[in-house]
Amino acid sequence: MAVIDLGRRRLLGGAMVFGGAMLAGTPAFAETMTATGAAERRLAFRNVHTNERVDARYYGPSGLDHQGIAEINHGLRDWRTGQTHVMDQDLLDLLGDLRDRLGLAPRRGFDLISGYRSPETNGRLKERGGAHSGVAGKSQHMLGKATDIAMPGVPLATLRAAAYTMRRGGVGYYPRDGFVHVDTGPLRTW
Ligand SMILES: [Zn+2]
Repeated sequence: MAVIDLGRRRLLGGAMVFGGAMLAGTPAFAETMTATGAAERRLAFRNVHTNERVDARYYGPSGLDHQGIAEINHGLRDWRTGQTHVMDQDLLDLLGDLRDRLGLAPRRGFDLISGYRSPETNGRLKERGGAHSGVAGKSQHMLGKATDIAMPGVPLATLRAAAYTMRRGGVGYYPRDGFVHVDTGPLRTW
């Protein structure tokens, strides 16, 4: 993951960014954060199925906060099977930026309907069909790159519109089920 990021940042930002990241001993991800001017990056959410809450910092003044990232990964685990996955850090940024774009405070929590999904869970949901028609054979949820979310107090259509304008991956709208799917896969909408 870090290697891939380094490669991409190098392409985007040139050798200076790459060199800086190496000197600091942190992945290019940290450089990205510094570039945005944010000293701290947080995510908060509540799993609507288990009512479990997470409010963690994943990036601080000295770089990635690995304990916070572990808490977030745990919170985004497949709650049906208990399996944890290393979530895509771009997804954490996407969620944080989405919240910021809505003008909400860093500790305002999303409602989390679905995060990581194990192959077993994905297969079961696919068989069952119904609610999540976005359950595909190669779901971004299985790659740790997707969440199904809502934001209490924010109309679902507003959340969708904000995600659309970010153009950072897939955005699916499920008004009947009360959530928006966002992922860091290819740019697409449904
Ligand atoms: Zn989804």
